[in-house]
Amino acid sequence: MADRIYLCLAHMSGKEQDFIKEAFDTNWVVPMGPNVNGFEKDLEGFVNDRKGGAALQKAVVGLSAGTAAVHLALLACGVGQGDEVLVQSFTFCASSHPITYLGAVPVFVDSEADSWNMDPELLEEAIKDRIAKTGKKPKAIVPVALYGMPYQIDRIMEIGNRYGIPVIEDAAEGLGSRYKGQVLGTFGKYGVLSFNGNKMITTSGGGALICDNEEDKREILFYATQARESYPYYQHEHIGYNYRMSNICAGIGRGQMTVLNEHIAHHKHVQELYCELLKDVSGITVHCNPGKEYDSNFWLCTVTLDPDLKVKGQEDAYKQVITGAVGGAAGVTHAANGVHTDCEPNRNVEAVRIALDKAGIESRPLWKPMHRQPVYKASPAYVNGVSESLFKRGLCLPSGPCVTEEDVRYIVESMKKLL
Ligand SMILES: *Cc1c(COP(=O)(O)O)cnc(C)c1O
Repeated sequence: MADRIYLCLAHMSGKEQDFIKEAFDTNWVVPMGPNVNGFEKDLEGFVNDRKGGAALQKAVVGLSAGTAAVHLALLACGVGQGDEVLVQSFTFCASSHPITYLGAVPVFVDSEADSWNMDPELLEEAIKDRIAKTGKKPKAIVPVALYGMPYQIDRIMEIGNRYGIPVIEDAAEGLGSRYKGQVLGTFGKYGVLSFNGNKMITTSGGGALICDNEEDKREILFYATQARESYPYYQHEHIGYNYRMSNICAGIGRGQMTVLNEHIAHHKHVQELYCELLKDVSGITVHCNPGKEYDSNFWLCTVTLDPDLKVKGQEDAYKQVITGAVGGAAGVTHAANGVHTDCEPNRNVEAVRIALDKAGIESRPLWKPMHRQPVYKASPAYVNGVSESLFKRGLCLPSGPCVTEEDVRYIVESMKKLL
């Protein structure tokens, strides 16, 4: 067993270095090239496959990050200064931060209890209310496949179509998840993928945008490469970004594509094992596919703890200020202001997290809803209490390709010891 078990560590196929070597050998060490083209082709083949149906014709653009993909999709939907965008509140900040890059305002929509993703009823209520209050239609709808779980895309698309508002699917955590056999990210006008270090596959850092066709792809490419007009000199008639994927990163991506299906199968297997081992543990519930239409990649296994479940050491939870990032995550440079915020996980959840951490296991509370984040306190929000309640009760457990069956048994045993 490894000395520490992480949520989702990258796992290489061994082919990555061949593609990278080829890039060096042919001097394609730039943000474009054969690996980028090859990776995009591989991704197109993957996302266009429909179980039991004719293949789709979507095009894919490789970018420097999933966040860049969100940003460019919003831009392509015409989002600008003063506009509003409807976005799932229960998400990672990369779904909503780019809305603010464009001077627009995120309008947060809460989740439904089945998938934990955007509630279609609240979505429609929000659209009507925004039109009534501002006289303008929101510019886009951004549902998120949180932890890989599909959203109710049939209903969300129906609402989007009825009001004429484009849907940008944030499938950054849901690469390979399907709804009714179709890959997430291919239903809406645009679909976002991420290949960050902890996602289903990695390019070290990177992302992609799924587009309807080659013409839309060319427009995204234009904005991803500084919006250059075709003159012999630099001529600019629009503001662009430096968001193209590097040919080195794409080499890693091509290697990773050879193990994508294996990774997905592994995540699903780990999820099944958690379900089996936790099924008789009262007070702990594993989040599962809520219906037969749903086929989550189970990027992370998530559980919720009953608020009245007694956990050893819960009296001591929140006694210590966290000084760095939780678990193994890097990049947190601000120290916490104090032990508490006005919206935090229940004591029993924090006690489990601390105990697992001491046992060498990384776990993490569910993502804190954006409508409860201080930075978004001025943003309108349409809430039903679902995401806030999940945040207070939930925990993500290690699920990545490096997590073994033995690890899962050890993690569950470590949790049971606390009850
Ligand atoms: C990871 C993630 C992103 C952004 O991806 P990066 O590649 O890290 O920029 C966007 N949305 C969600 C929900 C994510 O989890």
